[in-house]
Amino acid sequence: MPELVFFSGTMDCGKSTLALQIEHNRSARGLQGMIFTRDDRAGEGKLSSRLGLVTDAVEVADDLDVYAYVVDHLSQGGKVDYVIADEAQFLAPGQIDQLARIVDDLELDVYAFGITTDFRSKLFPGSQRLVELADRVEVLQVEALCWCGARATHNARTVNGEMVVEGAQVVVGDVDQAEDRIGYEVLCRRHHRRRMTSAGARAAALSPDVLPVAPA
Ligand SMILES: [Zn+2]
Repeated sequence: MPELVFFSGTMDCGKSTLALQIEHNRSARGLQGMIFTRDDRAGEGKLSSRLGLVTDAVEVADDLDVYAYVVDHLSQGGKVDYVIADEAQFLAPGQIDQLARIVDDLELDVYAFGITTDFRSKLFPGSQRLVELADRVEVLQVEALCWCGARATHNARTVNGEMVVEGAQVVVGDVDQAEDRIGYEVLCRRHHRRRMTSAGARAAALSPDVLPVAPA
């Protein structure tokens, strides 16, 4: 039976690397994948991993019907044996429904990869819909570690070095050219709650009089 599988995790947990691995293994067996992504770090129409591997992909715009896109491709004589959707947290809930329809109506496996929660520890809408619809949710637990050594389960956003818990869910555009310098770091829940990034921990260690105080 074809399945909609959601591979979920934090940033840096190796999702895109696994997506590329699945693509490699299946294309080596002569299978043809259709790869969708959105806002990949390597630019439009690319699926890349931090390890430097990259492949071409279909960029998912707001108004793209991914089900209709696959049907069009098939009706023009194209071959699609399975579908990969990377950065699936950025897809609209309706587009996740379209992925489920690809599984049910076209009988293709769909492998979706996404970050579960944002920097406020709230579900991304695309990830929420995947949790609701997926046949299977696989939580990736590659060694993404907090600075303290505990397993990193949360994503933190920093603005000019300070951790923030408010702001737009997705920062669009070139972050380097933005007025504020935006960064991301994975943390354990304890240090996400205490807003203690690695830089904050280093600063606290250098001034032993100042104990880190957890916000209420
Ligand atoms: Zn920690």
